[in-house]
Formats: sequence, structure tokens, C-alpha cells
Amino acid sequence: MSDSEFDYDLFTIGGGSGGVRASRIAATHGAKVAIAEEYRMGGTCVIRGCVPKKMLVYASMFAEELGHAAHKGWTLGENSFDWGTLRDFVNGDVDRLEGLYDGTLSNAGVEVFSARAVITGSNSVRLSTGEEITAKNILVATGGWPMLPDFEGSEHLITSNEIFHLEEFPKRLMVLGGGYIAVEFAGVFNALGSDVTLVNRTETILRTYESEIVERLPPIMQARGMDLQFGATVKDIVKNADGSLDVTLTNGVTKQVDQVLAAIGRNPNSGGLGLETAGIELGAKGEIPVDAFSKTSCDSIYAVGDVTDRVQLTPVAIREGHAFADTVFGGNTRAVDHSCIPTAVFSQPSIASVGLTEVEARQQYSEIAVYTSDFRPMKNIFSDRMERGLYKMITEAKSGQVIGLHMIGPESAEIIQAAAVAIKAKLTKADFDATTAIHPSMAEELVLLK
Ligand code: FAD
Ligand code: NDP
Repeated sequence: MSDSEFDYDLFTIGGGSGGVRASRIAATHGAKVAIAEEYRMGGTCVIRGCVPKKMLVYASMFAEELGHAAHKGWTLGENSFDWGTLRDFVNGDVDRLEGLYDGTLSNAGVEVFSARAVITGSNSVRLSTGEEITAKNILVATGGWPMLPDFEGSEHLITSNEIFHLEEFPKRLMVLGGGYIAVEFAGVFNALGSDVTLVNRTETILRTYESEIVERLPPIMQARGMDLQFGATVKDIVKNADGSLDVTLTNGVTKQVDQVLAAIGRNPNSGGLGLETAGIELGAKGEIPVDAFSKTSCDSIYAVGDVTDRVQLTPVAIREGHAFADTVFGGNTRAVDHSCIPTAVFSQPSIASVGLTEVEARQQYSEIAVYTSDFRPMKNIFSDRMERGLYKMITEAKSGQVIGLHMIGPESAEIIQAAAVAIKAKLTKADFDATTAIHPSMAEELVLLK
């Protein structure tokens, strides 16, 4: 299939979730494909995102299980936690996964360049090794990059990129932001034994989630020992001779901590990519504007994943990459449906969501119905925690079609993934109610909502 006019049919920039999937599928469709990755194959999700993060979540939840062990009849010896052991185990597994990604690409016949690539025209790229390469199509899948605030001492901040590699366990950790990363890492380090302070610029965390569900989380975080400083940001950070950091907040509070993690969002990673050489103009946040088929304003250049700032989630980047490859190389033109995407925050307890929030539903439908279940998960009976779970379902009143489902409680992500199939299939509350409960389980609340 290779078009002899060019070195490759497809040159992909970025070996993350979207770029790897697109390259592999394009190659299986018969295209001659190459990919450039400037850091490590696998991208954010595998190397410094979802995967190592979830491993830390599991490890931190183990601390909670240990705490409940006595109620379950177990007598344990003296417990202690060693950050270095966990960090090295997690990073070892990341190395293994990186190798698998390399293997998958080479097995599919994709040529891999370990180099930075920049665009030099509609059909050409230049590698940091100096090589000039031509391609019939170019796919930009360069992901996102953490935003950093600017204040006196902000050079002392770390981001999620660094946190997986810390030499020393931060006994006192300050986290800036109230989104996914802030809430997840605050929970992880609190459970592992850090004294955690979460600083958020407003009174609202996880702003895009269902507010009634999210409102449950701050009191739980506080009860678990976290200090929540809402309606504040950092004024300045001063580093002491022993490495500790004196942080002053805009609300006048001062704290001494060991690390400050900035988690205030991620911008599209599009800087210095040479897109202007192909006539592509960036959006306000630096995102690459694309059509439904991920095509940019230049016919031979496409973009998928976080760099397009549509939905910053791995499964979305993968779907966009796959659809691009099917459309351009597989004779199967298809666009990704970005509606009704299930998501979860791996907070402790976790929050998960699919479909519309109540506010969104009221804007889009004339009549809606809301059902909730407010319950104490049986698992919590073993602990002294009084934490309660909340499930909330929103339906279109006349048809009963479920248009939103939101939950906070243990295993929410696992539960909502299954329920999302029913919601995507436009099933009704009556369909949920007609399904027999599994008892005793938390998920049974889904078919018992009132
Ligand atoms: P990326 O995976 O970021 O890949 C882009 C790649 O391009 C990188 O490897 C980069 O090195 C490379 N690159 C950039 N520029 C160049 C260049 N010029 N030349 C060569 N290579 C280049 N999502 C979820 O769905 N679930 C989660 O639980 C989750 N947890 C997360 C936790 C953290 C801490 C973070 C930071 C993100 C998390 N995400 C999660 C988001 C998810 O990681 C991203 O949405 C996803 O990785 C985006 O994939 P992508 O292909 O667009 O880009
Ligand atoms: P988010 O967009 O989730 O949250 C950013 C947070 O930072 C918000 O609370 C926002 O406040 C706040 N903020 C923004 N700008 C500033 C500023 N200048 N000063 C102070 N606070 C600020 O970003 P994250 O960095 O947490 O994560 C990036 C993306 O990665 C997520 O959106 C998500 O798509 C993905 N991700 C997914 C995960 C998952 O699926 N479980 C886990 C981790 C990341 P405000 O609400 O007021 O705007």
C-alpha cells in the first residue's frame, strides 16, 4: 500500500495512548508506519499517569484494610510502610509495560524512532537526530503537559511527572488544585501516612461532577485527616536549608511541608511542534482544532488525544486513534461518539459518573426525575468510619430513560462501567428495576433506587 512518493504512509508523533493505537491499527490495515517518541513508549497513561497512579491507589487502600484487620479477627505484627519499596515496584512494572508497548509496535511492523519530531511542512517531519522524513499523512498525538502557576518560589513545585520518583516519602504534602489529580494524590498520600493539605482556589472540588455526589467527599477527606484550604491559592514558597518548604497561602495560612504538588490542569502539548509550517492555527489553550474525523485544517495532518483537548482520558485517546486509522487506512470512515463517556475519580472513596448531571439534565429536558440511594456500605461496618455511599440516577420523566448516573462509594468505577452499557443503550429506570438484585452487594442499590 505504500505510496512511493513518501517515506511512509503514516508518521505518528507521540507514542502515548492515541499514537500507539493509531499506528498499530494503521499498520494492520497495510500502511507503512513510523512513530517518534521523545521520552518513553506508552505515554502519560502508562509511564506517569493512570497505571502507576492506580498502583499507588491500590497500595494506599491496603493501609485501610490493615487498619480494619483487627475487627476481622486478624492479629498482625508491627506494620510499617516503605516508600522506596513501593516506588521501585511501581516503576519496575512501568518498565515492563514500556517493553510490551515497544514489542506490540514492532510486531505490527511499525518503525520506532526514539527522538523528538517536529513538523516542517504538510508532509514532512524533522527528528531531533537530524533525520528528515516525508509521510503521506502525519498524526500528532503529543498529549498534554501539567500547567504550573507563577508565584514567588513556584520553582519548588513538583507535578504528577515527578511524584512517582520522589527520593524521600513526603511526610507533609501540600496539593494544589481540586481536580482529578489533586483529589486522587491527596487520598493516596494521606492513606500512606502523609500529613496532607489540599489547597483549592474555590469552595468546589471536581467541578464537572454531580454536585450532590461531590459534596460528600470534603467532609470524608477531613475526617480522614486531610486539611482542606478552600477559597485560597499559594502566595509564595520559601525553601529552607533542610529542604523543607514554608508556604504562605492567600488566606493568610502558613504551613511547613516537604513537597508541594501542583495539579491545576494540563495544557495541550503543542508548543514548538512546527504546526504553523503546515498552516495550522492553534486554539486558545494551545489545542489543535480538528473535525469529527480528527483531521486538522491541513488535509494530510490529523491529531488525536489530549493535544486536541476534547476529553482528556486514555480510552478516548485510544478510540480517536483507532477511528482515525480505520478511516484513513481501513476504508471504514467513522467518527468517535464523545457523548455519555463514563469517568471515575479514584478518590477514597471513589466517585464515578456517566451521562448528564442534574443541572445539565434540567437545561436539556423539560421534565426529569431524580432517584437516590443513600446507604452505608457493608464494608464500612468493619471500620469505625461512618462514611455513607450515595447513588443518584436521573431520568427523562416521560420515557423513564436513564440520562445520568452518579455515585460515590467503594468500587464506584467498577460498578459504573457495567451500568454505563445500559445507559449508552438508552435503557429506562423500569429496565433497571426489572433486574434482580445481587444481594448483598453495593451495586444492588442501582436496581433499588427510589
Ligand atoms: P500521551 O499519553 O500524553 O502521549 C503523548 C506522547 O507524546 C508522550 O509520550 C510524549 O513524550 C510524546 N511526545 C510529545 N511531543 C513529542 C514530540 N514532539 N516528538 C516525539 N514525541 C513526543 N486517564 C484515564 O482515562 N484514567 C486515569 O485514571 C487517568 N489517570 C491519570 C493520572 C495522571 C497523573 C495523569 C497525568 C493523567 C491521567 N489520565 C487518566 C489522563 C491520560 O493519561 C491521558 O488522557 C492520555 O494519556 C492521553 O493520551 P495521548 O495519546 O493523547 O497522550
Ligand atoms: P483538572 O482539570 O481535573 O482540575 C484542575 C483543577 O485545578 C481544578 O480544580 C481547577 O479549578 C484548578 N485550577 C485550574 N487553574 C488553576 C489556577 N491557575 N490556580 C489554582 N487552581 C487552578 O486537572 P488535573 O490536572 O487534575 O488533571 C488533568 C486531566 O487529566 C483531567 O481533567 C482528566 O481529564 C485527566 N485525569 C483523569 C483521571 C481519571 O480518569 N481518573 C485521573 C487524573 C487525570 P476550577 O475547578 O476552579 O477550574
